[in-house]
Amino acid sequence: MSTEFVDGSLEADAWNVGAKVAGPVADDVDRRGRFPAEAVAAMREARLLSAMVPVALGGRGARLPEVSGAVRALAAHCASSALVFAMHQIEVAYLARHGHTDALAGMLEQVASKQLLLANANSEVGSGGDVGRSACAIEVSGDRFSLCKDALAVSFGAYADAVLTTARRHPDAAPDDQIMVVCPREGLHLEPLSEWDAMGLRGTCSNGFRLRAEGDTALIFPEPFSAIASRTGTPVTQVLLGSVWVGLAEAAAARAHAAVRAQARKHPGTRPVSALRLAELTTLLQQARAVVGAVARRYEELKDSDEVEGLGFGLELRNVKVAASSLALEVGNRALAICGIAGYLRSSPYSLDRIIRDLHGGTVMVSNDRLNEASAELLLVQKHI
Ligand SMILES: Cc1cc2nc3c(=O)[nH]c(=O)nc-3n(C[C@H](O)[C@H](O)[C@H](O)COP(=O)(O)OP(=O)(O)OC[C@H]3O[C@@H](n4cnc5c(N)ncnc54)[C@H](O)[C@@H]3O)c2cc1C
Repeated sequence: MSTEFVDGSLEADAWNVGAKVAGPVADDVDRRGRFPAEAVAAMREARLLSAMVPVALGGRGARLPEVSGAVRALAAHCASSALVFAMHQIEVAYLARHGHTDALAGMLEQVASKQLLLANANSEVGSGGDVGRSACAIEVSGDRFSLCKDALAVSFGAYADAVLTTARRHPDAAPDDQIMVVCPREGLHLEPLSEWDAMGLRGTCSNGFRLRAEGDTALIFPEPFSAIASRTGTPVTQVLLGSVWVGLAEAAAARAHAAVRAQARKHPGTRPVSALRLAELTTLLQQARAVVGAVARRYEELKDSDEVEGLGFGLELRNVKVAASSLALEVGNRALAICGIAGYLRSSPYSLDRIIRDLHGGTVMVSNDRLNEASAELLLVQKHI
């Protein structure tokens, strides 16, 4: 194993990959809408893909706050690379916490030994962000399963070693009676259904695909999807995607900070007006950092208790998504006002073009309305906030 990108702490290793590899090619990845292959190769070299695999199975055994730090570090350089890393870790978390068959445990071991990259195909054409229901169903014959799903968006699906997906338990099951299954590359066929010529996060290559898969039934998670989503998938998703938006906000803030200091250097002895705007921006940035950090730590406290599935923590999880995506976007907008035309230009060192386009991904990667609607309904019946 090379040691070029390894110095011990997960966040420091991720920062290294971001600074040395992902950042320098981020504009090219964005312009061409291409997969950040060299960033993922560097993550493999640094063994970042097995960050959440238990140490006993060859991984780093990292906890959610550490992984959140690594996602932020990558996002500060290239949000597409950070999102690939974050989405992969969400799938690893499912396997690490709920992969209670030999085949699923074997897959987890291979994530560490072969640095496999895992993608996800939960959302379906026709149901948008409502991933708690499936139209497609898995079919089982003996010890083999088969599945066909029109997936709305499968980030880096064309580059992944396996895709985790949801489906109804059998062809007569209700839409919310779902299972999750791992579809390894060898039994997987992805037929493109839509292009990914997106406004931002262009390197995630999140095309829609008709997914056809077959494999061993031991690759079906034994617990219902609703249970593993509420215990693990939702908390890990909200924290790690929130970390992408925070990392982008940090990048925007860093550019605004540099611009203010440059303005101050031009007029020694005076304080530019933008310094006050920068101070205001830092309060928003701190809120964004705090909300994600607090929920990451809270998850570690609750993950082995029933409280992780409680209504109160559910509200916190929806709020962390809504808060992090909105606050981060506001930081980006304020950074633009501070940097002025230097931030608006695409070629300037203060350019916020890619960062702000990427930040809008937080708005659509499950609509805040959908989350707030769920919270509104809960708050009508809950006696205490
Ligand atoms: C960069 C990117 C990468 C992605 N990668 C993946 C991936 O790898 N795997 C995957 O499975 N999916 C992926 N997705 C899809 C994502 O998870 C969401 O499913 C998708 O963004 C939702 O699309 P939508 O706008 O149709 O959704 P919706 O959430 O349905 O929102 C559309 C509109 O409907 C309104 N709306 C809908 N339902 C409600 C409701 N109940 N209450 C209130 N308002 C509602 C919303 O306000 C909004 O205006 C990705 C999306 C993006 C942007």
